[in-house]
Amino acid sequence: MKIDLHNLTITSAHAHLTKGDFTARELAEAYLSIIEKKNHEINAYLEVFDDVLEQADEADKRLKAKKDVHVLTGIPLAMKDNILIKGRRAGAASKILEGYYATYDATVSRKLKEAGAVFLGRTNMDEFAMGGSTENSAYGPTKNPHDTSRVPGGSSGGSAAAVSMNGALAALGSDTGGSIRQPASFCGLVGLKPTYGSVSRYGLMAMGSSLDVIGPFAKTVEDAQIIFDAIHGKDPLDSTTISENTYGVKTLPKKFVVGVPYDFALGEGLHKTSAENFKKNIQHLEAAGCEIREVALPNIKYSLASYYIIIPAEVSSNVARYDGVKFGALEEGKDLLGDYLLTRGRLFGKEVRRRIILGTYVLSAGYYDAYYGKAVAVRSLIRADFKKVFDSGVHAVVTPTAPSPAFKIGEKTGDPLQMYLEDIFTVPANVAGIPAISIPSGTADIDSKKLPLGVQFMAAHGQEQLLFEIGKKFEKMRG
Ligand code: GLN
Repeated sequence: MKIDLHNLTITSAHAHLTKGDFTARELAEAYLSIIEKKNHEINAYLEVFDDVLEQADEADKRLKAKKDVHVLTGIPLAMKDNILIKGRRAGAASKILEGYYATYDATVSRKLKEAGAVFLGRTNMDEFAMGGSTENSAYGPTKNPHDTSRVPGGSSGGSAAAVSMNGALAALGSDTGGSIRQPASFCGLVGLKPTYGSVSRYGLMAMGSSLDVIGPFAKTVEDAQIIFDAIHGKDPLDSTTISENTYGVKTLPKKFVVGVPYDFALGEGLHKTSAENFKKNIQHLEAAGCEIREVALPNIKYSLASYYIIIPAEVSSNVARYDGVKFGALEEGKDLLGDYLLTRGRLFGKEVRRRIILGTYVLSAGYYDAYYGKAVAVRSLIRADFKKVFDSGVHAVVTPTAPSPAFKIGEKTGDPLQMYLEDIFTVPANVAGIPAISIPSGTADIDSKKLPLGVQFMAAHGQEQLLFEIGKKFEKMRG
């Protein structure tokens, strides 16, 4: 059977694999041949693993024996370069980790291996996940498969581009301030940022430890749900993971109430086409039987300011471990201090160095209360705003995912503030710790290309199920 990669989903691939229409090896070969054709231009993968077919053969054994077959058995996935897989290179797209090999599996990698998934390779990203375009990679930018003069978004741009160019069926990314949802919206995919603590961070290179979470890129809401189901859960190796019974939806509502913070969602800086698309999305939701309610989130407008204090503060302490001694590459100086200065000065990229400087500043004596202390206080206000809205019976809050469709490569690299503004709609969910999903919502016709757009739904802590249900309704309505 000829494999139609474009229309394949995890669900349909699983049905074909179990019926024997094609084998996991044939499926993996189909993906490898696309990667071979497209990756030199798109630069989605930093490395394609050399044992993909062996992994697929293992999956075929399970499928053939009808033993230990999981819906992910034989499913080819791409993994972001900041998630550890034992024995393989991992580098967070940074020169400072040249030569580093993971000595253990991240919990998510272990779970996916147990399910029998096939890892195709590791994907490009902004260095240590700092950025929104994948241009901060030490290994060159990734291009958007929908228009190669544009960025795929970031920081998980390689994972998004890999799925979007049909070079993987789904992928994992990490989301600290939007790094799954924004590239998903730029590349026409579903991207889920789970509840903070629902997916283990063990084996994920830390960026902002109070914000980081691993999640899936997929072509459909159902596929994203399948991966979330496979990777989430309490983990003794990550003390911030939450137990299954502390959350979850008991009964699904008959009528979904969707809250719209109009002032924020349609505020200043929103691209005209994105605004029009968002208004249409609201009509679709109404047509799908949802009740639309205007909601007030008075402090949400401070999310970006609060995030860009908290994130450099956490980054500056998390990346302190990369000193040329413990991991990866070393630039030798005259003495130990010389080693540190050369290694960190030469091997960290510009954005990482910028955040270390900002972070140490906001945490320094005399400035701590004015910056970090205040940002953390504002964070509680944002959380409380969301809680109030969800307690009032709203099932999900909706906004655009990003203020514009994919921008041009090089368009924002000269102005970090412009790049940070990209995150306006995505950071509130990270700051509040709540789950959020981006779903394809239409396209913008620009330069005779159809650029994907995304809509974002956010739900209360632990209520991923509501996002999946509303997401499926929305998907169906859009057709
Ligand atoms: N663009 C945001 C930043 O640069 C988000 C990054 C992320 O989620 N990893 O901080």
